[in-house]
Amino acid sequence: MNAINPYAPPKAELDLFLERQYWRDGKTLVLRRNSALPPRCVKCNAVTDGEAAVRKLHWGSLLTLHYRKVKLDIPLCATHSRRYRRARSARLTLRWLSLALVAAFFIAPQLSRAFTLSGYFVLIPIALLLGALAQRILSALEQPLKPLRIDADFTRLRGADKTFLDSLLDFPGR
Ligand SMILES: [Zn+2]
Repeated sequence: MNAINPYAPPKAELDLFLERQYWRDGKTLVLRRNSALPPRCVKCNAVTDGEAAVRKLHWGSLLTLHYRKVKLDIPLCATHSRRYRRARSARLTLRWLSLALVAAFFIAPQLSRAFTLSGYFVLIPIALLLGALAQRILSALEQPLKPLRIDADFTRLRGADKTFLDSLLDFPGR
């Protein structure tokens, strides 16, 4: 059954292509869908001890149906890992504080009585808006890499360090 196909690419070349799952395209990090990154910090190129930030990356819009998401382990050194963990815990703390505030508002009657109608219609919307804005800023800060494009085959990411990108081969595709 193992007929030799004279048109097949040389085995070694094929293996190399299949093994290499990540490249650079200028300032963009390109990686094959579901592929892993090398164990080096994407922010300073230091060798990591397997430490990585697990991130769900979203791209596109549900409205236009061009929407994709990928889950990616992003390798980070101890210093950078700490930085992104701090941003994440700041966001989660803020979220819990707002939830606690809303709960307190409903639980403590004297607190809600202190609010007049203007409180309900002005202060709460403003607080909600500021909260949403802060969440947005903090969630951007906790992303080491930002998706530029996610398609069926490749994920393109911005934000990788230059020394990390310099260590990669140029993307051979489009
Ligand atoms: Zn680092």
